[in-house]
Amino acid sequence: MADCLFCKIIAGEIPAGKIYEDDEVLGFNDINPQAPHHVLFIPKRHISTLNDLEGTDAALVGKLYLAAKTHAGNLGVAQEGYRTVMNCNAMAGQTVFHIHLHMLAGRPMHWPPG
Ligand code: AMP
Ligand code: ZN
Repeated sequence: MADCLFCKIIAGEIPAGKIYEDDEVLGFNDINPQAPHHVLFIPKRHISTLNDLEGTDAALVGKLYLAAKTHAGNLGVAQEGYRTVMNCNAMAGQTVFHIHLHMLAGRPMHWPPG
């Protein structure tokens, strides 16, 4: 999608600190990290919000989680723990309208989030 920041990262038009890539998923460091490790996992196909998911996207969303799990193992934080979050629309704080799974690790997390 032409005006989408994350589609531009996928296209290589905007630089990003890529840490994971396969044919359907890209993972890169968040530009404003909220933890020692803060990575965003996104589908390469544009989907604006969680509300736009179809049943046929189930495997794709699963791959975002599997990529996060793999990255946690690579970082060595799988056992101590980490957080995954996907914000949907304004009330939840979504600011980039291309779905992304946040993966945060390396510090204690609190609940509920702010
Ligand atoms: P959300 O508020 O859930 O929509 O999260 C959007 C995230 O994208 C925020 O954590 C931002 O820091 C991050 N972000 C915005 N622009 C960039 C960028 N150019 N590269 C990497 N992360 C970004
Ligand atoms: Zn997009």
